[in-house]
Order: sequence, then C-alpha cells, then structure tokens
Amino acid sequence: MRELVIATKNRDKERELKQLLKGLGVKVVSLNKYPDCPEVKEGASCFRENALRKAQAVSKFTKRPALADDSGLETDVLGGLPGVRSARFAGKNATYARNNRKLLKMLKGKKMKERGAQFRCVVALCDYPKVIGLVEGKIRGRIAFSPKGKYGFGYDPVFIVPKYGKTFAQLKPKIKNKISHRARALKAAKRLIIKYFKLNPELKYSNSQN
Ligand code: IMP
Repeated sequence: MRELVIATKNRDKERELKQLLKGLGVKVVSLNKYPDCPEVKEGASCFRENALRKAQAVSKFTKRPALADDSGLETDVLGGLPGVRSARFAGKNATYARNNRKLLKMLKGKKMKERGAQFRCVVALCDYPKVIGLVEGKIRGRIAFSPKGKYGFGYDPVFIVPKYGKTFAQLKPKIKNKISHRARALKAAKRLIIKYFKLNPELKYSNSQN
C-alpha cells in the first residue's frame, strides 16, 4: 500500500491526523516510525513556511510523500498571539496548562466580546523535491474566562466554539474532528492527496518497508 508520512512525533496530533485521513487507501505513518529523521525547527514567522519546511525535510529523509501541518491559536486583541509561538508561548517546553494560564492572564479584564480568536492550520504536502500543495483551515471562536472540559489538547479547554457554546475540550473528539481548523485543512489536503496518488500510480512501496 502507498505510504504517506505525517511529519509529527506528537502522539496527540498523530491520533487526530490519522483519524482525519482515514479511508484514503493510503497507509499513514508518523515520524515515530522514522525516529532518526532530524527534527526541523519551527523557526519561521508564519505557519505556511513552517509547514513547508517540515514536509520537505521529512519527504527528503523518508523518500516518501510527506504531510506536515503547522497550527496554532491567534487571538484578535493580542495581535494574533500566540500564533506561531503557540506551543512555546509560556517558554521552551511549556506545558499546555502553563500556556493556557499565560493566555488567560494576558486577557484578564477583557469582556467576552473582546475575546475573539481563531485556530488556524496550514497543511503542506511534498514529494521531495516537488511541493504538491499548501492548504489552510480556520475556525473562529472566543477565549473562555477559565479552562473547561477534559478532551483534546493544547488550548482546547479555553477555546469556545460559538455554535455549541462549549470549549473544544468539552466537545467529543468526533465533533471537534468534524469542525476544527485541522479538519478543514485536512479535507482540502485529502483532495490533493487523492489527485496526486492517482496521477502517480507508480508510487507503490513494498510491505517490507512498512
Ligand atoms: P503545532 O506546531 O502545529 O504542533 O501546534 C502548535 C501548538 O498550537 C500546539 O502545541 C497547541 O498548543 C496549539 N494547537 C494547535 N492545534 C490545536 C488544537 O486543535 N487544539 C488545541 N491546541 C492546538
């Protein structure tokens, strides 16, 4: 079966991405299968550049088509912060809880109507050296006054989805995976993958390499 490498070692992300890419007829593996793949620093100032760098590096190393996403939370009143710094907002190796605390502290005193935010996700697909494409997904919401819910990861407990009046962490993963920024980007990416693999039927890898 054809193999697509998702450029992440993060188990939370791996689970979500695999769920979202189900039914493609492509074997989806993560970098946990390629532990020697050098880590690509997310040093760029935009999601697109980070996603592209990761997809290119992983595809080059694994010699397979690779999909990379870069995502984060952008808060209106903070000029888009934490943005590309979402993972390390409260410092290097910050926990999800510390990042959330920092964000809530920065928004202290802001009314609900001033707490508009969006999750954004950019997905890059590469078959080195070829760039197959770049797609994007977004979801608008508001930052809660305090964390709520037990599902998901990252900023999920503080991101309220207006349609449900609940945080992402209060919504079952099945619902989040239908409406999230990543789901929307992945939906577009799926179309690219299907088209690309159809256009390149010679891209078959033997099971011995799987
Ligand atoms: P990454 O660089 O794309 O892995 O994501 C950066 C950070 O954005 C993550 O560590 C999370 O803090 C945050 N993030 C991205 N997507 C989500 C999501 O779906 N829920 C909650 N936080 C997210």
